Order: sequence, then structure tokens, then C-alpha cells
Amino acid sequence: MDTKELDKTYVAGTYKRFPIEIVSGKGSVVKDPSGKEYIDMGSGIGVTSFGIADETWQKAIIDQISKVQHMSNLYYTQPCVKLAKLLCEKTGMSKVFFSNSGAEANECAIKVARKYSSDKYGAGRHTIITLENSFHGRTLTTLAATGQDHYHELFTPLTPGFVSVPANDVAALEKAIAETNPAGVMIECVQGEGGVLPLDASYIKAVRELTQKNDIIMVVDEVQTGNGRSGQLYSYMNFGIKPDVVSTAKGLAGGLPLGATLISEKCQNVLGFGDHGSTFGGNPVSCAAAVSILSRIDDKLLEEVRKKSAFVFDAFKNAPGVQSISGLGLMIGIKTEKPASEVVAKCMENGVLCLTAKDKVRLLPALNIPMDVLEKAIAVIKDACV
Ligand SMILES: *Cc1c(COP(=O)(O)O)cnc(C)c1O
Repeated sequence: MDTKELDKTYVAGTYKRFPIEIVSGKGSVVKDPSGKEYIDMGSGIGVTSFGIADETWQKAIIDQISKVQHMSNLYYTQPCVKLAKLLCEKTGMSKVFFSNSGAEANECAIKVARKYSSDKYGAGRHTIITLENSFHGRTLTTLAATGQDHYHELFTPLTPGFVSVPANDVAALEKAIAETNPAGVMIECVQGEGGVLPLDASYIKAVRELTQKNDIIMVVDEVQTGNGRSGQLYSYMNFGIKPDVVSTAKGLAGGLPLGATLISEKCQNVLGFGDHGSTFGGNPVSCAAAVSILSRIDDKLLEEVRKKSAFVFDAFKNAPGVQSISGLGLMIGIKTEKPASEVVAKCMENGVLCLTAKDKVRLLPALNIPMDVLEKAIAVIKDACV
């Protein structure tokens, strides 16, 4: 049996995979078993921040894996503390909890919000307000946080204590705060799975003001938007606010599993001994990979991300077959006249891998995609739109 048949036979059928197998790659170019090359405009859903088999990243991993690959959180290890220090220095946050995925980073954020509230106000003030059309993960709690009913239907009852309100509607948020006496409000500054939709800057500021005024923990889910993707290190930095808690994962370790929950000074002592834990969280190899990624997301790289973003926005503005373009940085959604799946299939035929989000073609290329490779990919995508 070939890989596709083996997959059908033995792997749980949760994924509708594209009909190609990838065997190797370098930077923003990947290869199938026949040697056909594709430009990768999805970077493993915003994970391979510096592309495939990046040499600096590889070296960091190989160095660490030849020393120690795992010791559990019962012992101190250097990559974990190095990464925590780097994250705190770059964000002004005070503490970091490490896990393995975006959903887990959000679970921790929710725990921090609820415990902050119960420590200070006692039981009952536990609701988390999220936004309609949001996406926060696939565990039963982060599904409850996800404001899209179609993810819920088959798995009820979900974790109680979540309500969602329409995005960009300050009055609806005020009303929900008055009615539910919440512990936290959780948002994505750009709704990724929801269709690459940035929230209004004024709304993000209003969320910050309302949560501050009412001593509610503001959580920003930076799982997809984080680690340079938005043209700033974290997307909230585009809006001149500082949340109480930030969750991130996807691109953080450049292709190894790692989640991080960044906790501001206000909540830094909320989690104490035994309050939370993870066997793999803070794994030395994943953390060494993340140190190599994060230390290269500097002002120069971010400036390049913003330049490439402007190039892509310009290329699709008023292009034939294109209705609109949305997003921030190198997180881009294109509403096409043809169905997005048709555009993506055509691009694949012509050697470019794209994603979809809702009814849009979604692009999440590596942050360091070379300009000539990006130009080539954009030409193919534009061609597929008409
Ligand atoms: C992908 C994603 C998640 C879930 O991350 P996993 O690593 O798949 O658990 C959560 N929130 C947002 C915004 C995401 O894009």
C-alpha cells in the first residue's frame, strides 16, 4: 500500500488531506515523492516560521538532542529558562507556563483567569467571554471557548462557563460583562480560522479598557497571530495595548510542538505548586528550537514581514477574480470570485500550496520567504483566481 492508502486504512479520518504527500523540503519549497516542487504558502498552518529544515533551527535542535532530550519538569533545564527569559524580556510579561499546543496554552490562560478571580472574589465569578466566529482549540474547554456552533454540536455537554458575543460590538460586550460577572475575556486580534478577519483597533482598545475597569483578565490568543506573523512580535503590539495573559504556540518553535502562556505581573503568582502541569511542556528540544526562532524575530525581520505583507496586499488589490483581501502581516485572506477550494486546487496543480479559511484563500508563508519565491507564488495564485 502507498502512503495515501495506509493513511486511509490506519489513521483516524479527521483530516480531509490534500492529495499530495510531502517527503522533503528546504526553506519555502517542498517536494512530493516524484520530485515535483511546490512553494509552501501555508508553512504547516503558520508553524514553520523560518521554513522547512532551516539550518540555524536544525543546529539548535541537534545540539540539544545530543545533550538531553527530556527530563520532565521535576528538574531544571537550561533551554526552558532561556526561552522563558527571552519571552518575558521581549514582551514585558512576568512568567511563562509551557505546554505543547495552542489549545493547551489557552487552557492554561483560562485557568489563570478563573483562579485570579476566585482567589480575589471567591466562587461564582468564572465566566469567560469570547467572540463569535473565534477559534481557540479542540479540547472540550477550548471548544466551549470557540464561538462557532458547528464545532460544538457533536460533543456536548462542553465545559460550562463560556459565552460568546459578536466581534467589534462594544455595547454587546458591556452587556455580557454586566450579565455574567466574568473572570476573563479572550480574543484573537485577527480571527484566523474565522476567515483572517482583524478586529477593529478601536474595539481592541475598548476590550482593554473595559476589562481593566472591571478587573477582568484580558487574554489574547496569539496562537496563530504570534511570533512575528502579524508584522509585530505579538499581534496585540500593533494596537498599543498590553493584555494580562497571552497564549501562543504554532510558529513559536518553528515546527516542533510547544505552547506558551505568558502571564503579566498582575497574575504572576496566581499559579502555584501543583496548580497546573504538563509532562512534555517546556521540553528542552522544543525550547531550544524556540530560542533559535524567537531570537531571530528582530526589528529587521519584522520590517521585512511588513514589507512582504504590503507587497501581497498590493498584488491582490483590484486583481481580476479577487473580491477583497484581509489580514495583518503575513496572515492574509483573499476572497475570490471562484470558490476558494477551486483556486487552491489550481494553485496546487501549478506548484503552490495555499490554505483556506472559511470562504477565503489563506496565505501564511514562512516569515523569511525570499522575495523572488513570494513573487513567483503570487503570480501563480493570481492566475488561479481568474
Ligand atoms: C491553531 C489555533 C489554536 C489551536 O492550536 P493547537 O496547537 O491546534 O491546539 C488555538 N487558537 C488559535 C487562534 C489557533 O489558530
